[in-house]
Amino acid sequence: MAETGSLRVEVVSPERVLFSGEATQVITRTLDGGEIAFLPGHISFLGALVENHTRIYLTGGAVQDLAVHGGFVEVAPDHVTILSDSAELAADIDIARARAAKQRAEEAMRGEHDATVESALRRAHARLAASGGVNEILGAKH
Ligand code: ATP
Repeated sequence: MAETGSLRVEVVSPERVLFSGEATQVITRTLDGGEIAFLPGHISFLGALVENHTRIYLTGGAVQDLAVHGGFVEVAPDHVTILSDSAELAADIDIARARAAKQRAEEAMRGEHDATVESALRRAHARLAASGGVNEILGAKH
């Protein structure tokens, strides 16, 4: 299969279509395989997703960043579909809210660890990574 051309990419949540467009590459994070890049011509694949910063490299050269919180990715040679449990486009992420959620989760984790708090922290990390990069995760002032 030729590794040229583009991918039709759709990202949906239970409520709506968040993104639909043509891309040259999609990077997301699966439960079993860690971070994976999908290019045109990729073999068919179905994977469960963890909370992550997903990057869609658009054919025009721009990058669409998203926070994706679980769900599935379905891949074929000509398309990538992300069926998320919930997701946000970078531009829709309220950074102050995500920072506050991260702080609350970190404080809660000083007590007893529980799965709910851990997933809240992973959601906050995904939102901060999608909207601001690594400096946001590390809490750098800028
Ligand atoms: P918070 O504690 O701030 O509510 P959360 O991780 O518990 O964060 P969710 O339950 O995952 O929030 O999401 C509830 C709704 O709010 C969803 O529609 C989600 O897309 C939206 N949402 C949550 N945090 C943000 C954010 N920082 N920016 C934009 N939308 C957000």
